[in-house]
Amino acid sequence: MTQRPTDEQAREQIAARKAEAANRPRIDNSSLRAGAPMTYYCRICSLVADVLPEDHNSRPRPHCDECTKLVAQGWSAKENCFLDYAIVDCGECHGRGHHGRDCYTKRLRTCGSCDDGKVKRRIAAAVIAGPFDPDKVVC
Ligand SMILES: [Zn+2]
Ligand SMILES: [Zn+2]
Repeated sequence: MTQRPTDEQAREQIAARKAEAANRPRIDNSSLRAGAPMTYYCRICSLVADVLPEDHNSRPRPHCDECTKLVAQGWSAKENCFLDYAIVDCGECHGRGHHGRDCYTKRLRTCGSCDDGKVKRRIAAAVIAGPFDPDKVVC
């Protein structure tokens, strides 16, 4: 298992690949002659992710090899950082594990969104590792 790069290193890697992709001709599949293989580009860096025969049945890979590795390590293209799972207080019941009282029985109603006030969320890995309270910064 390779060590996960820092957010900054991953952003630099992706930027370098994007720059490389911008310097390469991009194949427009619709302009190819019939029977020519189809080229698919990485959703993160735009380098070639997959080349498949025109009549392929399989779904093209969404990412190039290098970006696939980052995604497997928790990279989020949307948040532009690595995300990890962390157990945090439930936002619905604020960690209490119940959600008001039932109006008939007057008993505390169990929160439907969590288990005893805790939920598993994907949060920026740097926030989890850092000195911040993970409750305060949630992706
Ligand atoms: Zn890529
Ligand atoms: Zn809850």
